[in-house]
Amino acid sequence: MRQRENFEELRRRMVKTQIKMRGVKDPRVLQAMLKVPRHLFVPEEYRNHAYNDYPLPIGYGQTISQPYIVAAMTELLDLKGDEKVLEIGTGSGYQTALLAELAGEVYTVERIPQLLERAKQVLSSLGYTNIYFKLADGTLGWPENAPFDRIMVTAAAPDLPQPLIDQLAEGGIMVIPVGSRYLQTLKVVVKTGDKLRIKRVMECTFVPLIGEYGY
Ligand code: SAM
Repeated sequence: MRQRENFEELRRRMVKTQIKMRGVKDPRVLQAMLKVPRHLFVPEEYRNHAYNDYPLPIGYGQTISQPYIVAAMTELLDLKGDEKVLEIGTGSGYQTALLAELAGEVYTVERIPQLLERAKQVLSSLGYTNIYFKLADGTLGWPENAPFDRIMVTAAAPDLPQPLIDQLAEGGIMVIPVGSRYLQTLKVVVKTGDKLRIKRVMECTFVPLIGEYGY
C-alpha cells in the first residue's frame, strides 16, 4: 500500500516537473500520465527509476522512452477520444496504455516476440480491452485494418515508410522520428488529399526501426 502511494506521488511529481513545466498542456494527456502505472512496464530492477527523467532498458537492446518524449509525442497526435490509432513499436507497452486511455482503438505492432508477450500481459492485467496486438514488421503497417486516424512510430526511421503514409486516413496525423541511426528529427505528418504537410518538431534519439521500409 505504502509502495503504491509512493509511486502515485512519484507520478504526480513526474507530471509536474518533467512534463507540465516543459510545456505539455493537453489536460487529457496529463491526466493519462497521472493514471498509467509506468513502473509496471519496466523490468523489476528498474522500478525505482521508472518516474525519472530518462529512458530505461527493457531488454533485447530496446528502451522505454523518457516520460517527456512520450508525453510530447502523445500530445502531438491531438487525440479527442474516438480515433483508431496504429502504433509501431509496442516495446514495453507503456505508450500503448496511454493511447488506449486517449483513443477509441489501438492497433500495436512489435517485431520482438518476447516484448510483445510481456506488454500483452501487463496491458491485459490492467484491464485494457481496446488494444489489438500483432507480431510483425511494422514498417508495413497493418493493411487489413487501415485506414488509421493516427499513427505513432516509436523507433527511428530513415524516411517516411510509404505503407504508413498509404494507411493514414484523410486528415490523419502521423508522429515519427526520421533521420540517421543516431540522431533524428521528430516529425508530424498531416495527410490532406494527395499532399503531406510535414512539421519538424525537435531533435531526438530513438532505437532504429528495423524492417523493409526501415533500417
Ligand atoms: N513505445 C515503447 C514504450 O513505451 O516502451 C518504446 C518503444 S522502443 C523505443 C522501440 C520499439 O520498436 C522496440 O520495442 C523495437 O523492437 C520496436 N521496433 C523496431 N523496429 C520495428 C518494426 N519494424 N516493427 C515493429 N516494431 C519495431
